Amino acid sequence: MSSPLHDPLSKSLDENSRVETKNTTCYMCACRCGIRVTLRDGEVRYIQGNPDHPLNKGVICAKGSSGIMKQYSPARLTKPLMRKPGSDRGDN
Ligand code: SF4
Repeated sequence: MSSPLHDPLSKSLDENSRVETKNTTCYMCACRCGIRVTLRDGEVRYIQGNPDHPLNKGVICAKGSSGIMKQYSPARLTKPLMRKPGSDRGDN
């Protein structure tokens, strides 16, 4: 069974890798700072502030920088959870 952890080093950077940058908006809180997301082969690699954005002018907080975990955290829910019949609340 493969590890549920996202391993950023699992793919090596070669001449066929496609690196692109997308300007978008951080949704980790209500401030909506401008961010610049770097992707490699369609996979988020890191997040920076967008210096051209009028609100935050390139500055983002730690929460915004760690927005990558919203995509790759092993702790995120990937399906609805239902308690098994007969088990106590919080178990199974
Ligand atoms: S960078 Fe920080 S302050 Fe800005 S929207 Fe994201 S979480 Fe909020």
